[in-house]
Formats: sequence, structure tokens, C-alpha cells
Amino acid sequence: MRIRLIILGLLTMSMFSCLDNIDRKPDATETIAESVAPFKYWTWITADPKRNDDSYVEEFKKYKDNGLDAILINTNTDPNLLGRLAPLAKKEGLEVHAWIMAMNRPGDSVVRQHPEWYVVSRDGKSAYDHRPYVGYYEFLCPTREDSRNHVLKLVEELSKVDDVASVHLDYIRYPDIFLPIGLLPKYDLVQNEELPEYDFCYCDVCVAEFQKTHHRNPREMENPAIDMEWKQFRLNKIRSVVNEAYQIVHKNNKILTAAVFPYPEMADHMVRQRWDKWDVDVVLPMIYNVFYNEGTDWVGFATRQGVQDLEGTETELHTGIYVPGMSGEDLTQAIREAKANGAKGVSFFDGPALTEEQLLVIKTSKEGQ
Ligand SMILES: [Zn+2]
Repeated sequence: MRIRLIILGLLTMSMFSCLDNIDRKPDATETIAESVAPFKYWTWITADPKRNDDSYVEEFKKYKDNGLDAILINTNTDPNLLGRLAPLAKKEGLEVHAWIMAMNRPGDSVVRQHPEWYVVSRDGKSAYDHRPYVGYYEFLCPTREDSRNHVLKLVEELSKVDDVASVHLDYIRYPDIFLPIGLLPKYDLVQNEELPEYDFCYCDVCVAEFQKTHHRNPREMENPAIDMEWKQFRLNKIRSVVNEAYQIVHKNNKILTAAVFPYPEMADHMVRQRWDKWDVDVVLPMIYNVFYNEGTDWVGFATRQGVQDLEGTETELHTGIYVPGMSGEDLTQAIREAKANGAKGVSFFDGPALTEEQLLVIKTSKEGQ
């Protein structure tokens, strides 16, 4: 269970206007707006329908009292549960975001009725009955009309819930072609190249559509990892789902946020996710240093990289920090690194994991703003 949680946290990387104004001159209005915009604190939480309202109110109060501004709630895509919790959180002064596992839909009863919706690996196996890495990896093909429309319908339902500020896309990507380096020993894996069993999606629809445009068959490529159009095809398929989700949520007067891999080129390399090219209001890159055997200085590096890549877009970046095992001192440093490198806020994974010491760090740093 512990490993599952760690992986979920890690791979969940599988979870906002121009950020870096250093190279351009902001006009007066922008300068004023930026000087008053507070540095925002978020946290991810997973809801349990069996818990009562009082226990949630207590949890929400704890976050608010310690300086948090926003929560991202995973309700397992249940608009009713979200509709129950959102007003409670709002009443305690928290902004609420509807966290959805988008392309990975573990246990989704509708999805289970459609084996053809699942991604297919280069070695011809469907994630329906051959899950890459872990049992809960039930990734859907982003190209098929029916599977992408299923995800978009869920996004729409969440975007209609009152008291919700955004729909928050998580797992908006393909399965990991490369796992974070810190995770490889857990799986006893060596990944020095793109391995066929972790390379997706080679389903009939993807292959036929690619072939129609590019006149070659990905299944017959000697080394598909170096075929740029095949890579781009897949990046574009994820982008297309995101951009349509953006239209849907904005129609319902909400914004779109997303949990993404640390910085765009790393996300592209690991999970075929090029988030600096998306229509998205806020990204929360999961800059979980421990997964990559890195220190807190890397939080600053990855934040800066993402901020620079978003220059000229309307997307804001708020840094995701993985708190388990982090000392108070390291957390202080990680927050500083994010802020000094252009993030507009930080999000902690996850809420229930925050220790008393960490909550004090958050509260103190909030008061110092
Ligand atoms: Zn496919």
C-alpha cells in the first residue's frame, strides 16, 4: 500500500498568465496586478464518500488555519460528492478544484465495458488486460472518439458543479515510457531506451490515422523512438484532449488546471506530454525532487525551466512539492526555490501527509509574505 501510494504520488505527476516577465516590459496595469497577487498555497486531497461532513470541515479548517488557499479534491469523478464537499470548503475560505484522473481511469465501470478504448503497446498488448507497471494503470487511447469523449464528458460534469474554480486534469498523458529514475529500483527495471511494453498507443485507430497522413506504419518502424512525426502525433493527441477540455470548462465559467511532469521537455521525454503548448490556465508541475534523486535546488531549476518555457503564453505555473519525508528546513527551502524562480504559488502532495512541523512552515511562510 505504501509503495502504491508513493507511486501514485509519483506518477500522478502522471498532478496559470505569463510568468516570467524578466525579458519583457510589463505595462503599468500588469505591474500593479502582480504586486498584489499573493503567492498561493494549494494541496491535493482524495475524498472518501463514507466520511461525514464534520470531519471534512475539521480538515478544511486545519488547511485554512495554516495558510492554505486552495484544495484540489479527487472525488473519483463523482459530481455529487464534489457538490457536497465544495460548499463546505468554500465556507472555510478555501478555493476548490475538481481533480480528475483523465486518461488513466482505474476502476471506471463504463471504461471496463469497452476493452477497445484502452491503449495498446508496441508489442501489441492492450492495457485492458496487460497493465504497464501497476494494476491501476488503465490508460485510454486519446485518439478514439469514444474514449476521448468519455473523458471530456466527465470533465463537463465536474465543470458544472457549483463552488468549483477549476477542473484539474491529472494523468493527462500516455503511460510512462521512462519511469522517474528514483523509482526504477522498486520495479527492478533498467530503461536505457524506449521499451516496447511501455510504448503506446499502437491501436488500430492510431496506426491507421498516422499512416493516412504520414504514409508509414509505426508497427513496422525499426526504431520508432527516433521518428519525429510519430512522437509529434502522440503529443498532439493529448494536446487535443486538453484544448477541448479548456473550451468545455470555460463555457461553464470555470478555468482549466493540470498536474503535469516537472518541465515541458522532461514531460515530453517521459510521458509524451508537452504542456507548454496547451490551452490551460494553470499548470502544477509535480517537481517531486525525491523521485528523481534530486535536492531542493532542483525544485528551483525545474520551476525556472517551466516558467521560461511558458513565456508569452497565458498559463501560470505553481510548483508541486512532494512533502513525505521532507524536513521543515527542506520544505522552507523548496518553497523559497519555487518562489525565487518565478512560480505563482506552490501545491503540496498531499494534504493528509502534511506533518505538524510542515504545517507550521507553511503558516509561518504565509505570514511572512
Ligand atoms: Zn490508440
